[in-house]
Amino acid sequence: MGSLTRTAYSFLLKELVTGLWLTLRSMFRPKYTINYPYEKGPLSPRFRGEHALRRYANGEERCIACKLCEAICPAQAITIEAEPREDGSRRTTRYDIDMTKCIYCGYCQEACPVDAIVEGPNYEFATETREELYYNKEKLLANGERWEAEIAKNIELDAPYR
Ligand code: SF4
Ligand code: SF4
Repeated sequence: MGSLTRTAYSFLLKELVTGLWLTLRSMFRPKYTINYPYEKGPLSPRFRGEHALRRYANGEERCIACKLCEAICPAQAITIEAEPREDGSRRTTRYDIDMTKCIYCGYCQEACPVDAIVEGPNYEFATETREELYYNKEKLLANGERWEAEIAKNIELDAPYR
């Protein structure tokens, strides 16, 4: 019994010393955590965040209503309706994304021939209600305007690899 107690005692002592050593060592190592949301980590140009619809510099919508994004979406999250304008160009009258269905695969962005629908760098779009995650064209275009500088830069950085 006495020898068992001694064994348990030396085991505990060894564990204690190992634990203290680990703590001491960690105190002098670089931190692995950041103080989010005041500090934010780096993001890859390929990061797939909140969706946005982009415009050209002259304000014209990029989207030509080809519906490739709608067809390729594996979650069937995109709904598009379109009609020709008076000038003969084809534009969407409705562009919805159900963000509760989206799996952030990026296929819509990959399929788009004119870089109109993109997944931007924003990941802070949590909502209090489900309805707020039913995005319409107005919301997506507003996202495009808000994030255009970052999106354009990311597309440029990723271009050599596409
Ligand atoms: S990221 Fe994928 S799942 Fe989400 S809308 Fe685009 S294609 Fe659909
Ligand atoms: S966003 Fe791109 S892929 Fe989708 S309908 Fe418009 S042009 Fe076509």
